[in-house]
Amino acid sequence: MVCAAGGWRGTAAAVSAVGCGEGKQGAPAGSRAGVGGGGGGERPPAVGDHLWTLLVVVVVASGDRQLPRQRRCQEAVQSAAVCRGASDGSAAGAELGFRKGAQRIRSEEAQHDPALPPWFASYDPGAAKSILNNGRTCRVVFDDTFDRSVLRGGPIQGAYRLRQLHFHWGSSDDHGSEHVVDGVKYAAELHMVHWNPKHGNFAPALKQRDGVAIVGVFLKVGKTLKREMKRILEEMESIKTKGKETPFLHFDPSILFPKSRDYWTYEGSFTTPPCEECVTWILLREPIVVSPDQMAKLRSLSMNTENEPFHPLVDNWRPQQPLKGRVVRASFK
Ligand SMILES: [Zn+2]
Repeated sequence: MVCAAGGWRGTAAAVSAVGCGEGKQGAPAGSRAGVGGGGGGERPPAVGDHLWTLLVVVVVASGDRQLPRQRRCQEAVQSAAVCRGASDGSAAGAELGFRKGAQRIRSEEAQHDPALPPWFASYDPGAAKSILNNGRTCRVVFDDTFDRSVLRGGPIQGAYRLRQLHFHWGSSDDHGSEHVVDGVKYAAELHMVHWNPKHGNFAPALKQRDGVAIVGVFLKVGKTLKREMKRILEEMESIKTKGKETPFLHFDPSILFPKSRDYWTYEGSFTTPPCEECVTWILLREPIVVSPDQMAKLRSLSMNTENEPFHPLVDNWRPQQPLKGRVVRASFK
């Protein structure tokens, strides 16, 4: 859920403002076409966008001068994209923008909270609708018009509806996850996005502190692989290029969970407008295992449309943000 919808176009401004040439994740022109099924919102650029981009550039450029110039540039690009997406309130923008969710977790600093209850997912396989490539990620979309696939327990109150799941991954196995635990970057990270129906709809929920809960699952490359990933990866050929979407029915996403339900949890937050506070993270301690071949399938997607040159869809993760005093609680010792 990286990659704010409508965010990438702003990256060019960010890049040129700091004078650093082409951003690694800069998208080609015309990359804003939306995809259906809970994706792809479009909005006109607003003055606030430009101000925000400028602000990000200034902050980053004047911040840590120890950072290599190229990295500073990329961070400016990605921060701008992430926050712009959060501001538009559209399903896609918010879905991708959320907040500066990516975090470095230090397990020894996480506070064990014995009062944290276990979490439960009750998913209806019939709620699965489609799988798509929106040029930024591979996403599976679920019917969330009523409480048919819900998450309960853990740090959240009530039942949150599953809306979609998507992945973040790297160009090689040594990076790709959005969370880094004790310095370990995983090859990929799965995000299952749920929203609180008490707010009526997904877009309004995005603006509420108790609006969204995301379950994060790490994907680690190994030998005892999670065969349940097969079903999703079989569809990669059908959604090879940006804008492709195909039906994806009768799928129970709970098969993707690891055995252990141990988790870390924290409230993400943006300190700077226009970003919203809305996500409760439930990050699972135990990774699931995928094979090198499975990772290769994810990387075989293109961030471009079929009429454009193939451009591998990789490194759709955001840079890690410091916790800045936020407390990470652990459900385990
Ligand atoms: Zn995500």
